[in-house]
Formats: sequence, C-alpha cells, structure tokens
Amino acid sequence: MNVDINLFNLPQNPFGASTGQTNWKGSGEEITITSPVDGKELGKLNMASEADYKKVIKTAAIAAKEWKNIPAPKRGEIVRQFGDVLRKNKEVLGKLVSYEMGKSLQEGYGEVQEMIDICDFATGLSRQLYGLQIQSERPDHRMMEQWHPLGVVGIISAFNFPVAVWSWNAAIAWVCGNVCIWKPSEKTPFTALKCQELFTQVLKVNNLPEGISNVIIGDYEVGQLMTADTRISLISATGSTRMGKAVAQSVAKRLGKSILELGGNNAVIITENADLSHAIPAIVFGAVGTAGQRCTSTRRLIIHQNKYEQLKELLLKAYKQLRIGNPLDENNHVGPLIDKEAVEAYKNSIEKAIVQGGKVLHGNEVIKGEEYSTGCYVMPTIIEAAPEMEIVKHETFAPIVYLMKYDTLEEAIGIQNSVPQGLSSAIFTLNVREAEQFLSSAGSDCGIANVNIGTSGAEIGGAFGGEKETGGGRESGSDAWKAYMRRQTCTVNYGTKLPLAQGIKFDI
Ligand code: NAD
Repeated sequence: MNVDINLFNLPQNPFGASTGQTNWKGSGEEITITSPVDGKELGKLNMASEADYKKVIKTAAIAAKEWKNIPAPKRGEIVRQFGDVLRKNKEVLGKLVSYEMGKSLQEGYGEVQEMIDICDFATGLSRQLYGLQIQSERPDHRMMEQWHPLGVVGIISAFNFPVAVWSWNAAIAWVCGNVCIWKPSEKTPFTALKCQELFTQVLKVNNLPEGISNVIIGDYEVGQLMTADTRISLISATGSTRMGKAVAQSVAKRLGKSILELGGNNAVIITENADLSHAIPAIVFGAVGTAGQRCTSTRRLIIHQNKYEQLKELLLKAYKQLRIGNPLDENNHVGPLIDKEAVEAYKNSIEKAIVQGGKVLHGNEVIKGEEYSTGCYVMPTIIEAAPEMEIVKHETFAPIVYLMKYDTLEEAIGIQNSVPQGLSSAIFTLNVREAEQFLSSAGSDCGIANVNIGTSGAEIGGAFGGEKETGGGRESGSDAWKAYMRRQTCTVNYGTKLPLAQGIKFDI
C-alpha cells in the first residue's frame, strides 16, 4: 500500500510562517524523519537550539499576560473552535498519526477523536472551575477558595500517543488560563507541527497572540531546558520512568510543579468465573493494539489454574489469526514498532525471559519480506512465565505478554501488585465478591482498575494516571484540572471588629 505524503500537506519549513510561529526558527541539529510503516522520508527539520528556546519562552510569557485575563468561558470558546477544526481535519491528522508513528489507522483516528472529546470536555469545564465557600469560625467573615491560572505550562510528550496526550494537557491548561509550550517526542514532530498549524488557524481568526500555543522540536536537551526553567510553573511529562525520574529531580530542584505520566506494566486477572468470550478479545486488543506500545498495554495475564489451559488455547488461536502489516491497511491488526531500537528491546526481553525460565508459546520473530522492509514489524509474542522472573517486572514497549498461574485471588492480587509500576489493571469475573475485592483498598494498587474490560482504551472523562513508578500524576477528566491552576484561600472581614482565629487575643 503506497502512501502519498503530499496528502498530509506537511509544513515545508516547519519553523517558518506556515506554523504560525513567525518569530523563531529551529537552528539546532537537522533530523530526518522516516515512517516506520515503509521507511519513506516524511521530511527534514532542525531541532531547537538554546537560543530558539529562549525566543519561545519569551513569546509564551508575553501571551500568558493576555490570555489569563480573558474570561474562562471565552477561553473555552477558543477550545471549542479548535475541536471543530479537528473534526474537519480528523482524516488527514489521523492518517498522519498512523503513518508517522505506525499505529493502525483506526487508532490514529481514535487519537484525533480523543482530542475532539477533550476539547468538548474542556469547553464545558471552562464554566465550572469552581472554588468552595467555607464556613469561617469568626463572625462577619467570609472564607472562600478560588483558582487562578499558573502561567506557562510545559508539556513533554512520548512518541506513542503523539497528539492525544498533548490535547489532554493543552485543552485543560488553556481553559484554566495558561499558555502551553509543547515538546513532542523527537520521533513524531510532524504530527505536532500539524496540530500547531491547526490551532494557530483558530488563534488567527480570533486575533489572539500566537504564543498561547508553542511547539518546540528537540530531544531531551530541550526538555531539560524546560524542566529547569522557573518561568514554566508546571511541567506535565509523559514518557518512560527513566525520563520521569530525571524530570522529577530537575523540577523539584526549583520547587516547581509536575505531573508525571510514566511507564506501565499492566495485568489482567482471569478468575475461575471469567467470561472468556469477553476476556479474549479484550486481552488480545490490550496486548497487541498499537503493537504493544501503549502505556496501558496488557503485559501480564494472571490466570486461575483451572482456566489456564482453556485460556491459553483460545489465546493461541486468536494470535494465529492476527494480520500484521501496513497499519494504513484497515485489514491489518498490528503495525510496526516505532524503530529498530524498539525491535532490539523486543528481542532482548524475549531472550532474557527464556534465560530466566520462560517458555515462548508464540512469536519471537522479526518479520521479513518486502512489506516489512523497515525491519520494524515483529510477531506478537506469548510467553509462559513465573511472577518472580525479573523480566516480568519490567515494561518492554512491544507486543509481549506473559502468562502466569494462580490459585487464590489474594495470590493473584499479590502478583498483580508486585511490580514497580502502577498504571492500569483489570479483572475478568462474573462473581461480585471477586470484583469488589479487586476494587477494594486491599485490591489493585493501580490508578486504573477495570472489571470485565481490558487495561487499555481509557475514556477522557476520568482522571488518567497511575501510582508508584508510573509517577502519580493525573490528567484529562474528573478534577485533574486542579493541577493546572493555583489554589487561593481568601478570607474577607466585613464586620466592625478584628477577631483573630483560634480565639487569640492581641490587644494593643
Ligand atoms: P521517553 O522517555 O524516551 O521520551 C518521552 C519524552 O521525554 C520525549 O519527548 C523525550 O524527548 C523527553 N525526554 C527524555 N529525557 C528527558 C529529560 N531528561 N528531560 C526532559 N525531557 C526528556 O519515552 P518514549 O519512548 O517516547 O515513550 C514510551 C514511554 O512513555 C513508555 O514508558 C510508556 O509507558 C510511557 N507513556 C506513559 C503514558 C502515561 O500516561 N502514563 C502515556 C504514554 C506513554
């Protein structure tokens, strides 16, 4: 299947007028972006130098002054318009996501749909940034809580959700009155520049400053400039736990705020009472969707011993039916990994699993042939493993799933919680006691706990994020917006006396 790059209408000079960022131009190292789908070049661009970064932060700081003074519902209206522009561009942006990153076309469209959904959510939210009214212990006093914008929010994102993660952060940050500087993954810059181009259209129509949204292309070094910069009040960083630890230290050093959305090692528990007709498709989608490159991908199956053989057989049958190939062809289920480095990580993890006592039941193959010439297509892999194996505790960003047996539910929950990560988890059971035990405080220790659905595919309405080495941050829905604002407690004395709190007397 041939892809016509002209379809995407990519900015020729990404740092020039076409992105709306007329005031700066990348002058750092040149990089060439090729698609993992067919190895074709999407384009070349220059990463940002330190001088470029300085211009961007200046543009953002100027825009922040204007943007925060616009009433929140009016800011919501801008985000609503962006949602409409995304609706019109869903096909082209979705295809670009699929082509630059390698995920299936349906998932590419799904990402853009998520962007549209979060714009809708944020528009409504712009009229609901509520503070509390609190009863004062002092007579004729009113106490209340209000929320103010932070200023500049920095967004550092990963390659695997090249656009949705930005929108979860940016749409909420904007209605909260902040401007954003986005550093996308250096592996997927063109989708980011396309998003910027679309948002800039909205800013132009509304005569608003371009610095409300800024994109800066660069690697970890540009990321480090952002995390160390006191002018960026909040850093929301999505990526590996290794990156999160570096970001956390850099931001904490200056006592800044951070939201960390890091690696996952997500498990599904299949009890004796599971409906396997639901469990199997959920597991397969969770394990091989996005070629196992979702933070919520299913990586571990913890299966009741009485169901083990049956589930294993059904799973193998399903895996044998998987079609692997060009993700833009809607008949295929699994596309490529992002690059050859990811293929090496896939191979190394399988090798380690074998050395540690694991048994490969399916997969362990880098696929060859004309359609797979990028060398990034791998066979989804199933490995029989034991919970103690070191590799099982590690997140490999590839379609590898480990099968483990259990006897009691306590044991299963113990295995599920025995890894350093704490993002997503699921149980398949038709027994209400088992389901409730899994959801109780003695149950899953993850930020996401599902019953009778898989680990991946979260909705934007809930707060998204995880515990332990996943970083503890929450983004998107529920009250995640509070992290993008500063809380202020205000007390007003409208009486004729000056009583002190706690009954303290201070006569002068
Ligand atoms: P990565 O950690 O290699 O890079 C992520 C981003 O961080 C990139 O933009 C990169 O340039 C930047 N970066 C790297 N080092 C940095 C530093 N020291 N300072 C500042 N920025 C730095 O991750 P990746 O390979 O792009 O993505 C895969 C990882 O992301 C997986 O671990 C996955 O689980 C995780 N992820 C988590 C979530 C979540 O919400 N929890 C969502 C998507 C991806």
